Amino acid sequence: MTDFVIYLGDVITANNIMIKNASLYWDQAVSPTRAKGIPWASVFGNHDDASFEWPMEWFSATGIPHLHCPAPSTSDAGAEDCSFRGTTRLELMKSETEHNTLSYSMNGPKNLWPSVSNYVHKLSSSSDSEAAVAYMYFFDSGGGSYPEVISSAQVNWFQQKSAEVNPDARIPEIIFWHIPSKEYKNVAPRFDARKHCIGSMFMEDVAAQEAEMGIMKVFEERHSVKAIFVGHNHGLDWCCPYKKLWLCFARHTGYGGYGNWPRGARILDINQQPFSLKSWIRMEDGNVHSEVILSS
Ligand SMILES: [Zn+2]
Repeated sequence: MTDFVIYLGDVITANNIMIKNASLYWDQAVSPTRAKGIPWASVFGNHDDASFEWPMEWFSATGIPHLHCPAPSTSDAGAEDCSFRGTTRLELMKSETEHNTLSYSMNGPKNLWPSVSNYVHKLSSSSDSEAAVAYMYFFDSGGGSYPEVISSAQVNWFQQKSAEVNPDARIPEIIFWHIPSKEYKNVAPRFDARKHCIGSMFMEDVAAQEAEMGIMKVFEERHSVKAIFVGHNHGLDWCCPYKKLWLCFARHTGYGGYGNWPRGARILDINQQPFSLKSWIRMEDGNVHSEVILSS
């Protein structure tokens, strides 16, 4: 049974959606989880709030297609407000969290904007809701409307937050964001990755963040950080050991975006006492593979 679902970004491809507000499609993407009554959390990828891209063929004889505008509601400015444009991260997050009691997604602190999905959740013990089993940190790794990076402000936020909730680093910490950091590139050279990484897909090069502002150094030095999970590269699904932690990809799950490789999801299995973090890939057809123990 699944207790919690994490959407690791690029939930929608907003680059050329011909509607006023892409929240409609976002809502469709999370609807299977909601229908099963499973709580979830989401972070943003580089495609979620990408700006509208005008296809060149619209300027040829086919012309520009008719824009689909939602029916004006009382709070809506109406037709003149309906134009080809992207939907902002804040609009997407507002829509998800306001309409879903099962959503644990959050707007991060304002001082971290333009990155939005920065927050932490305590994973509680099933027998004692006060006792923490692990802390799950969610970051917005940028892209779309601004550069693909974990900012220095986000590094400071993590340091302050972790010192506050887990001062002695006794509780394990697990990290989620969308775009792999540069260390992902270093840890798995394309033709060498299979030797020391665990996974089934090594189909492309790591497309890493544009810059490194110190977050990896902080994680390396904090022994409670056990693993980082990212999405972004549809042709990669591996976990590689990196210093004393693990760098992992999820698995291409959705039907949008590039690539037509078989879909699956990365499963995390967390045991409380003694603590262990185990992971594997579960394919859409139910097959499982690439099991790895990330912490025990
Ligand atoms: Zn991406």
